[in-house]
Amino acid sequence: MVTLDATMGRLCIAGLGPGDLAQITPAVREALLAADDVVGYFPYVARAQALLAQEITTQAVQWHASDNRVELDRARQALALAAQGRQVVVVSSGDPGVFAMASAVFEALEAADAPSAWLALGIEVLPGVTAMLAAAARAGAPLGHDFCCINLSDNLKPWAVIARRVQLAAEADFAMAFYNPRSRSRPEGFVRLLELLRAHCESERLLVFARAVSTPDEALQVCTLEQARPEMADMRTVVLVGNSSTRRVGRWIYTPRYYDPVGAADVTSNGSTP
Ligand code: SAH
Repeated sequence: MVTLDATMGRLCIAGLGPGDLAQITPAVREALLAADDVVGYFPYVARAQALLAQEITTQAVQWHASDNRVELDRARQALALAAQGRQVVVVSSGDPGVFAMASAVFEALEAADAPSAWLALGIEVLPGVTAMLAAAARAGAPLGHDFCCINLSDNLKPWAVIARRVQLAAEADFAMAFYNPRSRSRPEGFVRLLELLRAHCESERLLVFARAVSTPDEALQVCTLEQARPEMADMRTVVLVGNSSTRRVGRWIYTPRYYDPVGAADVTSNGSTP
């Protein structure tokens, strides 16, 4: 429940889900209906506009759309607007805490030159349906056992960190979800990822390439690690990799809730594979 106080500015950092307006939570809708300002990357601001266009509302919203690469500037702008007493909503796709704006807002709050008044603002993070959960639901239940989630963009961390995390996750037999798998500016990262997975997982391991889930462009491809090709992923794709027990049943794929070491990688001795 979003509480409003006309005398105080408020900042909500809201997740818009994977694309379909029907997957936006009622709490996020309510925050948008109370907003004076909506701040975000162009396509997400457009999604918020589409949601409000469905509503009977007389509110006069100021829309602040910007490019994807200016997260910190956007966070500072949102905090400054809230400090003026405005009701501000920062919009992210999926969940705002998953490789998105919530951390950027807290980074801006922590910065040495941040006005101390910002710490007194009412700040609320409103969760949304993150891409891997929307994708997993379409495929069946590939994340039904322990899993981890890794951002393949090496803009904010070195590739060596990504490679080590993938290797350890594969050794521990986690299912995995990969965000930002392949952009035009760094097509080689996903090639290296497939090489790494092939070094640590069996060739029949199941993968889901889920593109633009819950939008009109949605496309789902399920294949084995052997069949996987770099071109199957782009920046609108989240890639799910099953664990060694992930299997097909009919047109679904799922990971059992129990861990069956027969046929699965043995991760029970000393916590690592030999
Ligand atoms: N905060 C977002 C993730 C932002 S990172 C969330 O929680 O979903 C952007 C990456 O998310 C994309 O490169 C892609 O890997 C994934 N993604 C976002 N929306 C998606 C969708 N509708 N279908 C598939 N992947 C999506």
